[in-house]
Amino acid sequence: MAEELDKVDVVVVGMGWAGGIISAEMAKAGKSVVGLEKGIDKNRSDYVGVKDELRFDNRYQIMQNLTGHTVTSRNEIDETALPVRTMQNMQLGTDVGGASVHWAGATYRYWPYEFEIRSQTIDRYGEDKIPEDMNLQDWGITYDEMEEYYEKWEYTAGISGEQDPLAPERNREWPNPPLKETPSLRLFKDATERLGLHPFQIAAGNLSQNYENPDGEQLNACMYCSFCTRHGCDFSAKSDPLATVIPTAMKHDNFELRTRANVRRVLYDEDSGKATGVMYVDENTGEEYEQPADVVVLAAFAFANNRLLMLSDIGEQYDPETREGVIGRNFNGQYNSAFHGATGFFENEQFNLYMGAGALGAAVNDYAADNFDHSDLDFIGGGAIELRQYGFGAISSSGNVPGDTPNWGQEFKDKSLHYAYRTLTIWYTSIAMSYWHNYLDLDPTYTDEYGDPLLRATYKFGDQERNIAQFGIERCHEIMEEMGADIIEDGNVPEEFNHVYSGGHYTGGVVMGDDPETSAVNSYLQMWDVDNLFVVGGSAFPQFGGHHPTPTIGALAYRAAEGIERYLEDEEQLVKAPGRKFI
Ligand SMILES: Cc1cc2nc3c(=O)[nH]c(=O)nc-3n(C[C@H](O)[C@H](O)[C@H](O)COP(=O)(O)OP(=O)(O)OC[C@H]3O[C@@H](n4cnc5c(N)ncnc54)[C@H](O)[C@@H]3O)c2cc1C
Ligand code: SF4
Repeated sequence: MAEELDKVDVVVVGMGWAGGIISAEMAKAGKSVVGLEKGIDKNRSDYVGVKDELRFDNRYQIMQNLTGHTVTSRNEIDETALPVRTMQNMQLGTDVGGASVHWAGATYRYWPYEFEIRSQTIDRYGEDKIPEDMNLQDWGITYDEMEEYYEKWEYTAGISGEQDPLAPERNREWPNPPLKETPSLRLFKDATERLGLHPFQIAAGNLSQNYENPDGEQLNACMYCSFCTRHGCDFSAKSDPLATVIPTAMKHDNFELRTRANVRRVLYDEDSGKATGVMYVDENTGEEYEQPADVVVLAAFAFANNRLLMLSDIGEQYDPETREGVIGRNFNGQYNSAFHGATGFFENEQFNLYMGAGALGAAVNDYAADNFDHSDLDFIGGGAIELRQYGFGAISSSGNVPGDTPNWGQEFKDKSLHYAYRTLTIWYTSIAMSYWHNYLDLDPTYTDEYGDPLLRATYKFGDQERNIAQFGIERCHEIMEEMGADIIEDGNVPEEFNHVYSGGHYTGGVVMGDDPETSAVNSYLQMWDVDNLFVVGGSAFPQFGGHHPTPTIGALAYRAAEGIERYLEDEEQLVKAPGRKFI
């Protein structure tokens, strides 16, 4: 029998960027808040002196262990899904800070077109441009409405950037100037300029200078130490929740963080139609607790947000046969199951690739969103083309050899040394669409350690994914040629999704919109069906834009925080939609 605890204003599940932002904003507003995180407590000092490539890049030390708990995966509705157990495939966050600690820091806003993708595509190209099986949806919010929330997140995070010449004018400068320009970035910028494109320095969550954010948190200048993506930052130079929103929340006595608190259910009262709290297990003792709250916030990343709703039987599960229901609908994400880009090997140029930072890079957005004419193209949308200087580790760079090199022996060793400083890669971070046949539900076979069903992902590519990959590879090849590479190796167009979930860019399933028939949450990420339940994170993306997701997750979390405060005043649905359903 679970022990019932004292009621609080807000309970937040998950302590990454999304949960950290909600916790900080609610704590600042004087609400009583409990943050529940299934992993252990972590802070910056846990990463001091751990510049260890083997431990973090190769053995995935700070990621969720998939032996007990993972998702199952299949391509077709009539297949049996199998659990994804290989660590390299997932890179899910765990512990305080979540995946938001080991992110790289590449920061882009989504484009105005991407928020209104259905209506703008139809306006410009006609409805026939949209494939029959694609669930192309507007977000129920415009870029102009998002601007203030993007700005708020960027200033909290202290992002270092410069104006992208093609992007909408910003209301306010980036909080910090861009990171340093290295010779490899200069080469990319010069080549793309000669090709008539519009390069800029990627905005980065790695700070170019010391900075105090609006909450008074101090971040430090990046040392370009290279142990960045898949690592935590011991210098407090990476914008992450451990350096920003979580310490802000912790400064307030009305916020309490409980770790090793694995939430298994949202509690729901049928009579009132409200969530009443959550049930969690204290993983230290095995004891079960009920935490009552006026508002429940799920911020546990897309997979866990979906699964908790399904396990709690809240909202109508999407059914691909009838195409009705919304929970699990529009599962989408950016899969690097085939590399969409080109790698260049340079005989006469050397670059110091052993210094770098997660988001140190240059990009062009000429082939992003609807910035180019799609009339004669067999796909919709686009993405950024990027060159990054992450900073190589000794292990990860040893395989940077042309494809015709043997993968062992003297020739492999010689070429590994020769090309260690001479290999650059460009990639296309293309948009990922939603289809009626791609969705999430509970697996009928596999369970976790508590006997609860694992989440099942059903996902296959459409022609769109193959066509956009082909287009991106060709553009990357052109740029690499202009950069003067002696050998260019192109990525492969994927035949089918191969269940490699690498990169942490998975979204959808509890999507936002302005129609409860096709969305689960409104533009404040408040559930249509349960007014006091907010589902925050990438789960709200109706489709994945052509850029990395975290700034949009952060911006939406700030909007959700505003919505929660308003809800606590009025206890009402914040957006009125015609035909609203109740469960
Ligand atoms: C290697 C890598 C590099 C990346 N680089 C970039 C980048 O350059 N740019 C970019 O925009 N994005 C990047 N991302 C994506 C980015 O990490 C995510 O978008 C971001 O972390 C999502 O934040 P979140 O708060 O929604 O989830 P998370 O940060 O994952 O936080 C969710 C938290 O919920 C907890 N939780 C889950 N289930 C439960 C439960 N049942 N009970 C209690 N707690 C629970 C988890 O332990 C976790 O701490 C990268 C991801 C990876 C893996
Ligand atoms: S590269 Fe910069 S931001 Fe990344 S871990 Fe090193 S010091 Fe921190």
